[in-house]
Amino acid sequence: MELETDVVIVGTGVAGLFTALSLPGDTRIIMLTKSDLESSDSFLAQGGICVLRDEKDYDDFMEDTMKAGHYENRRESVDIMIRSSRDVIHDLIGYGVEFDKKNGELAYTKEGAHSKARILFHKDITGREITSKLLARVKERSNITIYEYTTMKDILEENGVCTGIQAENAEGTLCIHAKNTVLATGGIGGRYTHSTNFPHLTGDALDIAKEHGIRLEHLDYVQIHPTTLYSKNPGRRFLISESVRGEGAVLYNKNKERFVNELLPRDVVSEAIHEEMKKDGTEYVWLSMEHIPKETILSHFPNIYKKCLEEGYDVTKEYIPVVPAQHYFMGGIWVNADSRTSMEHLYAAGETSCNGVHGKNRLASNSLLESLVFAKRAAAKIQEEE
Ligand SMILES: Cc1cc2nc3c(=O)[nH]c(=O)nc-3n(C[C@H](O)[C@H](O)[C@H](O)COP(=O)(O)OP(=O)(O)OC[C@H]3O[C@@H](n4cnc5c(N)ncnc54)[C@H](O)[C@@H]3O)c2cc1C
Repeated sequence: MELETDVVIVGTGVAGLFTALSLPGDTRIIMLTKSDLESSDSFLAQGGICVLRDEKDYDDFMEDTMKAGHYENRRESVDIMIRSSRDVIHDLIGYGVEFDKKNGELAYTKEGAHSKARILFHKDITGREITSKLLARVKERSNITIYEYTTMKDILEENGVCTGIQAENAEGTLCIHAKNTVLATGGIGGRYTHSTNFPHLTGDALDIAKEHGIRLEHLDYVQIHPTTLYSKNPGRRFLISESVRGEGAVLYNKNKERFVNELLPRDVVSEAIHEEMKKDGTEYVWLSMEHIPKETILSHFPNIYKKCLEEGYDVTKEYIPVVPAQHYFMGGIWVNADSRTSMEHLYAAGETSCNGVHGKNRLASNSLLESLVFAKRAAAKIQEEE
């Protein structure tokens, strides 16, 4: 089948959806996803989304992000993300996203390596709240057509310019010719045995980009999350959000001794856990929520509470076994501050791209924000160049 459109967006997570919503209502858009619409990592995000609470927090927000990233971040990109954060949150609220409130005001939480509470959240299902609302708005737009269970296999290239993509679904091959193409295909967790990501997220866009000589960056910068629920069953690892530690949960070794400051950056905590497991000859360490009031656990972390109960652990009464697992990819398809790749008319946004915000290690809750900010910038650039 041959199709023609203005913009083709590969991926229906937050990056893809927000790009689509940020383009004018008369732009013809085709979106595709390899799986069903709810199977994207964006739906899984638990902890929340960072925002610049007030001007006074700018320097600390910058420093926390840079420090977590081992100062390998592109400062310009971090600045753009922080400066755009309030606008993006405003957009989200406009699209119907609800964040938790305290005394009628937005409530903020804290996670590892944050010096201040600057994370907005919706219980422990922030990703579901944001992504489902964006998806609902996209479905209302008559200029957007979505193909589910349709996998991009290649991009179309003419004289070094991207002219669309080639994809496959149960009905056959689709050639989607487009003035602009946006790759928003998410992470690489599907390549790992233990990952918090959906298994169909296998970094397809990266392989395709490599084949076409498109610039890639920091392919070895992979984030291992310190705390996923230990299970003997194979498959996706269930994340125990960092905000649980932000609210006071602690880690114990097999002798019930603390061995690390739980609020250090993810890579440092993961390494400390690995060392402890090696030393003790164990396959996990313990996470204890004993210092968090039961009401906070039930109101802020209902999803984690329920999932652990299904696995046989009541987190209000007992420790849970946790183990580090692959979680996030900081590297990706190199993009500039407008989310443009090194190939003309080809953009990338979200986890598959590398705009340098996260440096060598992502600060918790910066990913949803970064995806949204740079998706919107891709849309703005596409519009500007029309
Ligand atoms: C368990 C978990 C918890 C998290 N918690 C947080 C959090 O609290 N805060 C935060 O900021 N970040 C969090 N993150 C990270 C964040 O959720 C992701 O980085 C972000 O949602 C990525 O969005 P995306 O749009 O780039 O990709 P995704 O949401 O993963 O979407 C990728 C899309 O691309 C499609 N796709 C992939 N390959 C192809 C192909 N070849 N053809 C067609 N379609 C394709 C997929 O089907 C999917 O629709 C979490 C991640 C996980 C896994």
